[in-house]
Amino acid sequence: MPENQFITPITGVKIERSLLADIGIILKCRLDKTRAPCPKCESDRVRTKSHVKRKLKHAIWNGKIVHLHLRVPKLFCRGCRHYFMVPIPGVLPKRRSTEQFRLDVFHLHQGGLTQKHLSTTHGIATATVERWYQDYVVYRVKELSGRSCPIVLGIDEHFFSKKQGYATTLVDLKNHKVFDVVLGRSETALKAYLEGLPGRDRVKVVVMDLSETYRAIVRKYFPNAMIVADRFHVIRTLNHHFLKLWQTLDPEGRKNRGLLSLMRRHAWNLKPEQIPKLERYFKVIPGLKEVYDFKQDLTRILLKKHLNHHDAKNLIPPFLWHLNECLESPWESLKTFGKTLKSWMEPIVRMWRFTKSNGITEGLHNKMEMISRRAFGFRNFKNYRLRIIALCGWNGVFAVRN
Ligand SMILES: [Zn+2]
Repeated sequence: MPENQFITPITGVKIERSLLADIGIILKCRLDKTRAPCPKCESDRVRTKSHVKRKLKHAIWNGKIVHLHLRVPKLFCRGCRHYFMVPIPGVLPKRRSTEQFRLDVFHLHQGGLTQKHLSTTHGIATATVERWYQDYVVYRVKELSGRSCPIVLGIDEHFFSKKQGYATTLVDLKNHKVFDVVLGRSETALKAYLEGLPGRDRVKVVVMDLSETYRAIVRKYFPNAMIVADRFHVIRTLNHHFLKLWQTLDPEGRKNRGLLSLMRRHAWNLKPEQIPKLERYFKVIPGLKEVYDFKQDLTRILLKKHLNHHDAKNLIPPFLWHLNECLESPWESLKTFGKTLKSWMEPIVRMWRFTKSNGITEGLHNKMEMISRRAFGFRNFKNYRLRIIALCGWNGVFAVRN
């Protein structure tokens, strides 16, 4: 079998022969380019001073570590009298492994293999695994740091730690990526970050739940953005108020778990055998059936998405009718919901024209919680942020450094 078939070839490095040793497989290699301009003064006036033997870990093949042995010329610059080594493609200066090898370790560790495991398979110290891992995380975040704000932004809060409380997540909803996480959820906490955020006037749409604080922040710091309410959050709020109203109508029934499951379900998700059960219950409690139907109608309206301009316009009169009914309702909880609807009317109506919602953000929050748990929690928010951006902020593929 030709030697160059069991490892990924490196451009610029030629394999001359292979041998099996105690430490694994050794590939004797040669550099294609044995001369290079001076890295200090860029002069071409160089001469070969000597040769240095370099041993590099490069890959794992069949459970064996593949080492590259190279004779690397050491050059002398006549211009600035500086000594330097000819660079090896795919190897960063002063490293004893190729970037491909380090990247493999990163991916395996990320995939769940422990430091202990990798230290035996890859012949490195456990601390080295951690160091390489951190190195790639920092490198990736550095690469991503120049990005400007996404056009469609999702804002939501999530719990960070008991000591430091909540954090705000900014999500690129178009690409399903975390844009950033910032500690705190009040304007005072976010002010400094938002003021220094590049390209925030580029943001066109911000999706968020019905939070006054976030609304005030968005109006102030994203002047060109349209606020769109988050569909799931609106439905959740409606459900909450509806269940409260039910409690005033029938405090005993509200405690029944079976009924609760039926009542909070969308009517179109009920199983055929569940419908008569609910009908029977409605006969016992006067007035409940009307409220239930009203809520189902309103839910149907609120769940509409991706409508064209014309259809969205047609939806406004029934929406306004429901809004009015809520406001004039004798029930306190419906009245409260009506007030929320009125105050958030525009962001809610805009939901119909869009498909994006913070469902994406919730999904990312789940992923973030898994990352946090795998690390047994983070005490330091800075480390947490690095990890989150490196793992949820890009497509998962690192380019090999050169
Ligand atoms: Zn020089």
